[in-house]
Amino acid sequence: MNSVTYDVVVVGGGPAGATAANDLAQAGASVLLLDRAGRVKPCGGAVPPQLLRDFDVPETVLEAKVGSARMVSPTQRTVEMPIKKGFVGMVDRASFDEWLRCRAAESGATRIEGTFETLGPSKDGYIELTYREGAKSTLSRRANMTGIKTIRTRYVIGADGANSKVGKQAIGGADKLASVFAYHEIIKTPTAMTPRARARCDVIYDGSLSPDFYSWVFPHGDTISVGTGTAEQGYGIRGSVTELRTRIGLDEAETIRKEGAPIPLKPLKRWDDGKHVLLAGDAAGVVAPASGEGIFYAMTSGRIAAQVIEEVLQTGNAKTLRLARKRFLRAHGKVFMVLGAMQYFWYSTDKRRERFVTMCADEDVQRLTWESYLNKRLVRHDYFAHIKIFFKDMAHLVGIGAADGRR
Ligand SMILES: Cc1cc2nc3c(=O)[nH]c(=O)nc-3n(C[C@H](O)[C@H](O)[C@H](O)COP(=O)(O)OP(=O)(O)OC[C@H]3O[C@@H](n4cnc5c(N)ncnc54)[C@H](O)[C@@H]3O)c2cc1C
Repeated sequence: MNSVTYDVVVVGGGPAGATAANDLAQAGASVLLLDRAGRVKPCGGAVPPQLLRDFDVPETVLEAKVGSARMVSPTQRTVEMPIKKGFVGMVDRASFDEWLRCRAAESGATRIEGTFETLGPSKDGYIELTYREGAKSTLSRRANMTGIKTIRTRYVIGADGANSKVGKQAIGGADKLASVFAYHEIIKTPTAMTPRARARCDVIYDGSLSPDFYSWVFPHGDTISVGTGTAEQGYGIRGSVTELRTRIGLDEAETIRKEGAPIPLKPLKRWDDGKHVLLAGDAAGVVAPASGEGIFYAMTSGRIAAQVIEEVLQTGNAKTLRLARKRFLRAHGKVFMVLGAMQYFWYSTDKRRERFVTMCADEDVQRLTWESYLNKRLVRHDYFAHIKIFFKDMAHLVGIGAADGRR
């Protein structure tokens, strides 16, 4: 048994866990960051500039900046959505996550590579947590792991992703997290690719590639992520990516990695056990519906988890743990609700997808979409534009908007 008793053990060193560990260490708590390591998180890596501002992340961490999105409809009609002010940042999850973990360690968190196994109460009112020490080697895929170790802590943050073992052991309902399964292939960027294509994200709405989500081509400088997602079990998601690569002429390009993972669809009803454990990030289900954007929300929920635990460390009132979910939803619940309704309606048939892409040609839609995405605020001041969009939306819903982008 490790003789140290930590204030907090954070399980999982992705964006949520590394942020929580960093904030807690900066606040003076004794923190252990336990991360399995050895596997790069499958991810498109698109992040808004607000993430850089909120979490003090320098632009040098970005692999690329994207200045436009191209929406592609089921009939292959395209609508360009240039970003007038700002950019979408692209991160490489191997280096981005490691940068965040290193920062947490520099702030004073203890880092251990290991796999969380179990947690339970100790006789003297703490939590006893066991983990298997060591990392899986990504290169050999062979486990380089040693024995089981035990640590004691007052509180645990479960930031161990969508299949959270912490959640399954400590929080009722966490085993029923609804999710989309996303799969992508990382491809070497062909030298012949135009600078314009290198600075643009393609977002493809096509029922033949995904029955209920979207597909994407995201440039990352030297590499490109080509992927798709669906909640439909048994859907041929790998075949969709092969088809998409052929369509965009990247079927012959060198493939570096093929990988997939679940993306949560909805925040869990409970994030805490009312005593010692609190979930954050994918483990709590905080990914924006419709876009599948999770990095910013993982870091935000990690920060909120850290703030709430700081308060509990001072007051001893574990009921406060419940406030994490409340505070997160107060800040982002409306956006999640709007995006959830959007996904439910617009991603359901090709006819609707066609209309959705048409709507994206509208200047007001573009402006409000980018302002909301880039700055992570619902744009409230522009009521006239909202009203215009509402009526345009209604026209498209009832089928009187032109399907080819004219109006
Ligand atoms: C294919 C795909 C594409 C995506 N594209 C985007 C995108 O472009 N932009 C965006 O914003 N979001 C995207 N997302 C979503 C985003 O990746 C996640 O929402 C985000 O990574 C969540 O961060 P997290 O820290 O909560 O969890 P994770 O990033 O999953 O991190 C969990 C950490 O916990 C560790 N861990 C797991 N189990 C254990 C254990 N038992 N013991 C110890 N450690 C453990 C893991 O090793 C990992 O380091 C995408 C997701 C997928 C699957």
